[in-house]
Amino acid sequence: MIAEVISVGTELLLGNIVNTNAQFLAEKCALLGLSMYHQTVVGDNPERLSQCIRTALDRADIVIFTGGLGPTEDDLTKEVCAQVMGLPLKEDPHTRARIQEYFQNSIYKKITENNWKQAMVPEGARVLDNHNGTAPGLILEKDGKTAILLPGPPGELYPLFNQQVYPYLQELCPEKILSRMVKICGCGESMVEEQILDLIDTQTNPTIATYAKTGEVHLRVTAKAASTEAAEQMIKPVVKELKKRFGSKVYSVKEEETLEMAVVRLLKKHELTVTTAESCTGGLLAGRIVNVPGASQVFREGFITYSNKAKRKVLDVSKSTLKKYGAVSKETAREMAAGGAFAADADICIAITGLAGPDGGTEEKPVGLVYMACYMDGNVTVEKYQFKGNRNKIREQSVVKALDLLRRTVLEGKGKDKA
Ligand code: ATP
Ligand code: MG
Repeated sequence: MIAEVISVGTELLLGNIVNTNAQFLAEKCALLGLSMYHQTVVGDNPERLSQCIRTALDRADIVIFTGGLGPTEDDLTKEVCAQVMGLPLKEDPHTRARIQEYFQNSIYKKITENNWKQAMVPEGARVLDNHNGTAPGLILEKDGKTAILLPGPPGELYPLFNQQVYPYLQELCPEKILSRMVKICGCGESMVEEQILDLIDTQTNPTIATYAKTGEVHLRVTAKAASTEAAEQMIKPVVKELKKRFGSKVYSVKEEETLEMAVVRLLKKHELTVTTAESCTGGLLAGRIVNVPGASQVFREGFITYSNKAKRKVLDVSKSTLKKYGAVSKETAREMAAGGAFAADADICIAITGLAGPDGGTEEKPVGLVYMACYMDGNVTVEKYQFKGNRNKIREQSVVKALDLLRRTVLEGKGKDKA
């Protein structure tokens, strides 16, 4: 089945807003196994919009609209679409009551006359209640074609789509699509691809798609089958093979699990506590850990030791080490990690010291040089990296590598339960 997206709004054409809704919808359609050959952006102009709708209905089975469902004069998606499809507009009492209720519960108590425009729906439409705004979503079916109208604000569109449109489209699509994510870190995208070239070359169903993220590569395995169970069975051996090839570099096979979530999960499992001693990342690493709900079980405090003085005072890095090797050195990283674990009385300490630039680099120590160290059970592992990119990119990459070093340290089992 073929789907097409029409994004309505002059703001989009002027570049005032980025068309993230089209990206969201395209990704979901791909997950559903719908083919997409065209997407259109059109301004708030009835003639041009009408032309777009005719073209789209001609070549696609399902046309999904975003934007232009609001109460104002320039919001005309519904009116134009109903006209093209030959469906007269009628007031929907349920939507009228819902709009009234929405305003009663909102800070804008007064309903203006144009709000009632949103209660008018094309004949035979399936109305999708919007719990985050007044404009309902609409599904129109006529002559074997389906039009799905959704509001522009992402905070309204995403829940409407996930809760009501996705299940509807699942029913509509004869084939079931299922996908699993295999998340890898500690390996670049080209290296990952090289190791699965044979799988990618022969793939038809399931397929493997690679996505590169900062310091990570995600592999999405997708299967199409007559039932979800059958798709699951097709995916299983591929996921197993990927796990075999990448071993401990696979940190998660859960779609929603981030690297820091996997790290916190692992620390909890091994009943270990961690602390951070950060220089150039200035708390970013601790921030990522604390982002994870329940992190308090494994993380109690962290240190931001930006200056040499702070490194000495808080982490007990020796004056001679700093003088002889400098703050950005493996020796300093090592002492930061050991000193941090002692200061916080934690099982593990992960330390980062580096040059994020843009200034301060030398030939011997260029910008992007970062040392990280991980202390655990009296052992310290130190790693050296030379990152590329601007200050933010260097700091971001440092955090990912540090989380991975922490993960590997726990996995390699220098911890309690290995004895
Ligand atoms: P409203 O009731 O707010 O008028 P609407 O359904 O009429 O909603 P628009 O007027 O087209 O939608 O857009 C409202 C807001 O939604 C925009 O200002 C923008 O912030 C966001 N938005 C609209 N279209 C998109 C899009 N394609 N991608 C991302 N955001 C969008
Ligand atoms: Mg609008």
